[in-house]
Amino acid sequence: MERKTYSATHNGTTTAELTASYTDRDKIRAYFWCDMLDENDEFNTLVTSLFDRYGLLWPEYYNHPVLKGTGVWGEELGEGGIVVFEKLCVKQPGSAADLIEGSIKVINHALESLKSRYTNFIAFIRPEVTSDDLLAISVHVWRSAGFRRVGTTYWFAFTPNPDHPSRKLDASEDYEFPQVQPDQDTMPDHIHALFEMLGDYDSVDDACLDHLQVCLPEADDPAWLMTNEDGDTLLHAASFTSKPECIRYIIFQKPALLVTRNHIGHTPAEAMRSELDYDRSMQEAEDDDEDEFTGFSEEDVRSLALLMDWRVPDIMGFKFGCTCGDCAWGFLSPRMRERLSLVARRWSDPNDNPPEVAKFMFVPYELQRSMVNEHGFKHGFAKLYQCLHLCFETRRAPTAKNVMGMKAFLGSRDDRKSVVVISQRFAEAGEDAADIATNAVLFEAIANDTVFGFTGEPYRVEHDKSDLPKCRNDREYGLVRRLCRIKYRLPVGFG
Ligand SMILES: [Zn+2]
Repeated sequence: MERKTYSATHNGTTTAELTASYTDRDKIRAYFWCDMLDENDEFNTLVTSLFDRYGLLWPEYYNHPVLKGTGVWGEELGEGGIVVFEKLCVKQPGSAADLIEGSIKVINHALESLKSRYTNFIAFIRPEVTSDDLLAISVHVWRSAGFRRVGTTYWFAFTPNPDHPSRKLDASEDYEFPQVQPDQDTMPDHIHALFEMLGDYDSVDDACLDHLQVCLPEADDPAWLMTNEDGDTLLHAASFTSKPECIRYIIFQKPALLVTRNHIGHTPAEAMRSELDYDRSMQEAEDDDEDEFTGFSEEDVRSLALLMDWRVPDIMGFKFGCTCGDCAWGFLSPRMRERLSLVARRWSDPNDNPPEVAKFMFVPYELQRSMVNEHGFKHGFAKLYQCLHLCFETRRAPTAKNVMGMKAFLGSRDDRKSVVVISQRFAEAGEDAADIATNAVLFEAIANDTVFGFTGEPYRVEHDKSDLPKCRNDREYGLVRRLCRIKYRLPVGFG
């Protein structure tokens, strides 16, 4: 990260200063949250509110009917370098007009300098950090400099591209928060207490339910529609803390609350998913290489299922945070399957001569030495990859058992036999051939990942060209490995 302070001067004296940091996002994508969370509070807020763990914009900020705000921003916010403005200081402004003029001058100066230094970046600002008490002026200033709000967040962004939709949106058309009157003043004490109890992560679901039934026994009680200072209803409160019995009761009494949005724009189901995803991403960021996420808790899954209308095929998806509705077993997303399947298919050709080195990357040296020249080794290994390919094509999880099970579908008896021979030879050496083959496919797919892969172009603006639906699980290689019980290995000769 590079931090720099820009100054505006008048007659040789500094009139205003602005500090900005630049981060080359493509260099840190694989560890985006990890790296950025080590920086200061401003980065923490930016990273956790706008980006996923790889530095891509959360899809709800361009897909969601409410959260996309004006809709001028899209996936491009996840591309190129990141500039974050942190501190704006105008020296001795005489009047509000001086303050505005001085601010705009130094912002424009900073943006011009940044444009001459970096070819591709997006600049971000959360106006309240630059001047707490002058928020209205501050927002006006940043909008005057070309910044527009990102979705319904507190963040504003700027792109140097003059043809971008954000640059065509008049400042007066930019998204503003609706003025809402909170129910706080008129809320009876017992409803207030109910909000507190439901929102408490430590309170017990059954105890809360008893309380809820006593306080609100009738469906037509107007208190059902009350909201707290964040615009959350009682259903939001119970969802945040995953209390399925309370959720069931609330939905039974007041189904309309299922579609009520809080101030951010989230329905209870969306709020819960967003909260769960935040916790998951935070956990993943803290766990460095091999994260520990192995699915949400039973209460989380039951709560989500109630909020999203219980559909049996989706239960696994709820558990593993699928957002596309088409993950095999809830975690193997269509794009993940496609990516892994492509590698396995490429390697299943026994006639590629000489074979790609990567294909045998995880085969221990002793086995390589003893088997590479053996008749049938390369053929058998190719057929093993074909089994893996078949696994993905039939939506099976690539566990060692499933991979070996696929040999029944190989074309000839010789092919089936060659896979058996390979796996026996590996087993004699204390190794698992299917596990080794799956490791190689995962490794190759990670290396070629369009977002953070380390071979070829590190990151392509066009992303995956695939037409398949996108999912939160598209890049969760670690999750696939853990859930399929694939041993974590390094390529031979590493580590
Ligand atoms: Zn999915």
